[in-house]
Amino acid sequence: MSEQKRALYNLDRAELQTLLASWGEPTFRADQVWEWLYRHLVTDFEAMHNLPRALRARLAAHFTIEGARPRAERSSSDGYTRKWLLELADGEHVEAVLMEYERRRTACISVQVGCAFACAFCATGQMGLIRNLSAGEIVAQVLHIEREVRALEKTSGERALTNIVFMGMGEPLSNYANVLKAVRILNDEAGFRMGARRMTLSTVGLVPAIRRLAHEPLQVNLAISLHAPTDELRTSLVPINAQYPIRELMKAVRYYLEHTGRRVTFEYAMIAGVNDDESLAEALAQLLSGLLVHVNLIPLNPVPGSPWQGSDRRQVEAFAAVLRRHRLPVTVRVRRGIDIAAGCGQLYAPTGRQGRRIVPVRERTGTYVASRTTG
Ligand code: SF4
Repeated sequence: MSEQKRALYNLDRAELQTLLASWGEPTFRADQVWEWLYRHLVTDFEAMHNLPRALRARLAAHFTIEGARPRAERSSSDGYTRKWLLELADGEHVEAVLMEYERRRTACISVQVGCAFACAFCATGQMGLIRNLSAGEIVAQVLHIEREVRALEKTSGERALTNIVFMGMGEPLSNYANVLKAVRILNDEAGFRMGARRMTLSTVGLVPAIRRLAHEPLQVNLAISLHAPTDELRTSLVPINAQYPIRELMKAVRYYLEHTGRRVTFEYAMIAGVNDDESLAEALAQLLSGLLVHVNLIPLNPVPGSPWQGSDRRQVEAFAAVLRRHRLPVTVRVRRGIDIAAGCGQLYAPTGRQGRRIVPVRERTGTYVASRTTG
């Protein structure tokens, strides 16, 4: 019986309203349930005190509230980062991370079990893609972290998280519909109320999805994982570049900028002796010249099995100096949570299944071919 129940977090507010209307409930009932879910974060229908007992029972008979059960937790030695291994309904796992800064509290959320894109420096990419997460499974990670923070601070009602980045396991724009639905649920003003400008979607450079995102009526931020300014180097680090080379990617970024007017962030993982030469900083500056962009430089985090090291501080600063000379806004990102493998590219969850990898072959249709397997 319980396997047939649906996850309530998968419904947006309009869908919940439609459902409850079809059950003959007055329209305000959906708002009451929504508030219990996204303001009070309850996980038990019995806690929804202002609902009639019969409605609580009917909801409990058809839906579950839980979407991600914590199976392990680690905290970094500096106390600023916490990471959870979360179990999903089918027994698969993802990781989710909380990062504390002076004025921000950011949740880093996964969107897939594994990832198909096999970036050379990324632990998640070694898994291959097991499956997409549903919108509800994405939302459930955020709510789990929010509950943890509130419990620690003994607060209730006021939202504790200030930002959400969809930069955990998986490629957000390759799970487009579910990720955007999760963004809309979290953004809903009657519920969790996370401002769209406080949410960031990252992409490895999926050109059609970037163009599509340009037309979404949401002020969400976009971050491009670039990591190299030339095709040969980028393809060696980010294989999907063979499908969508830098020229195509930059055309899509320009299109996005023209349609949204919103600044685009470029992420650049700095790998010692691989992509951190100042000549590459010059090439990057040329590539981004005149565009409304921000560059984040992130010294590569260690990943088991990878021979690469992050660039040292001096080289990162030299690289940043070149970009600044070209008047590009640059931030050197502080490394956080490395000791608990919670940094960029380090997330990984054990699975008994083999994931699919995307072979970047351009077919006539321009679609991906997923045929190779990991392992
Ligand atoms: S960096 Fe992102 S897109 Fe690349 S393999 Fe890792 S999770 Fe996937």
